[in-house]
Amino acid sequence: MSGEKVLIFDTTLRDGEQSPGAAMSISQKLEVARQLGVLGVDIIEAGFPVSSPAQFEATRLVAEQVEGPTVAALARANRVDIEAAGKAIVPAAKKRIHTFIATSPIHMKHKLKKEPDQVVKMAVEAVRFARTFTDDVEFSPEDACRSEIPFLIEILAAVIEAGATTLNIPDTVGYVLPYEYGQLIGKLKSDVPGIDKCVISTHCHNDLGMAVANSLAGVRNGARQIECTINGLGERAGNAALEEVVMAIRTRQDFFGHGGSEDLSTNINTKEIHRTSQLVSRLTGFVIQPNKAIVGANAFAHESGIHVDGILKERTTYEIMTPETIGLTGSRMVLGRHTGRHGFAERCKQLGYKLTKDEVEQAYERFVAIADKKKEVFDADVAAIINDEIHVFEQVYVLDYLHVASGTGTLPTASVKMRARGEVKIAVAFGDGPVDAAYEAIRQATNLRPTLEEYSIRAVTGGTEALGEATVRIRENKRTFIGRGVSTDIIEASAKAYVDAVNRMVAAQGTPEHPEVKAEL
Ligand SMILES: [Zn+2]
Repeated sequence: MSGEKVLIFDTTLRDGEQSPGAAMSISQKLEVARQLGVLGVDIIEAGFPVSSPAQFEATRLVAEQVEGPTVAALARANRVDIEAAGKAIVPAAKKRIHTFIATSPIHMKHKLKKEPDQVVKMAVEAVRFARTFTDDVEFSPEDACRSEIPFLIEILAAVIEAGATTLNIPDTVGYVLPYEYGQLIGKLKSDVPGIDKCVISTHCHNDLGMAVANSLAGVRNGARQIECTINGLGERAGNAALEEVVMAIRTRQDFFGHGGSEDLSTNINTKEIHRTSQLVSRLTGFVIQPNKAIVGANAFAHESGIHVDGILKERTTYEIMTPETIGLTGSRMVLGRHTGRHGFAERCKQLGYKLTKDEVEQAYERFVAIADKKKEVFDADVAAIINDEIHVFEQVYVLDYLHVASGTGTLPTASVKMRARGEVKIAVAFGDGPVDAAYEAIRQATNLRPTLEEYSIRAVTGGTEALGEATVRIRENKRTFIGRGVSTDIIEASAKAYVDAVNRMVAAQGTPEHPEVKAEL
């Protein structure tokens, strides 16, 4: 059985990282890139080198240290951008420059202030110049889905002539529907002169929840590369989720595979999906919604009595995929206070965490404390414990003690004891409610007052003794930081989330700002 491959182009590190609050440090990006290599993605878009020294360095290090995938760097259609991209990817064994320019009337007129003929000329020159650095050049007509089709055909034919090898068709604003996107790809495939020599690529945003459906419609009509991100990370509503497009192609082999009219598959090792998803969630602080397809905590949990009965008799009655396929062993396993250190460590490993001995010990201590309060500890609880305990950056502020007094007829009051670089700070404050009082006390103890943009709390698993996970989003100097905290006590979870966000903010100080030049692709 041979068949064709659909190439997976991961842009978690470039497009995904552009979502506010998802910024990663260079070492975190390297960790993600290595895991993407293990996952088996064909291309990693490592960054937008011209946008900042940190972006350049992150791209260069991925090119130097990550084996396997082609490493791509993004560049606008000008010499300065392309030169930066070309230099950053020098160490890679397989390198690609991805250059782009807007082609919709609205973008050409208002953003570029250029005539269509000038835009074609710039695109051609950019591709020619990129070819002096590598033979692998991708071109994207930005906002393709709102561009005029005859113009798209003209510019694509021109860049093919100039040496482009991959043609990416971005739905930059997440506007089109699957039927329309499929038609557009089919039309370009049949009408653009020379396109048979090139790979057609999809790049779909999820503003209407269509990113995955649009990408698959593109593949159905001839696209052979999908640009996507882990967990669908990305600006606004995000990009097409890698795990969803991959599992759709795999699960529906009767449609995409040799049972269908074509014979398509991807190079992804699906058993690494869950591990990769958890890693990206942990490093960015972005929570995965429990009902998220493929990687959500409930995606493989069957709780309704009828379903469970059906599954016990024959798994395929309600399961279209097995949890093992994405790297989970067993649908669900319940741990409790009798679970020993070894059993706990084993479960962490099965769930995809690579922890050091000390980290296992630290997480296990927390597990024991939680198992004491909560009889059954589920996989989602274990994931929450690890996210909470194993920090991915230095903890400048540590919450040692929190006491909150509140109730009907009393003024909510909080007292905190915190440590910061060896110093102990104590503060007492009151507020509109217990969480508000706790946050005010932390603000006083840390002497930091970022704007609180968002606060939410959810139960990690069911039951009144459930673990609560709080998420906060704070903003300072136009940068956003997300913090998470977990506890069986929701006030404590809320306080920890706030301290986590503050620590992320402090860790980011002195690091370069989020690229001021954004690639709206
Ligand atoms: Zn994009």
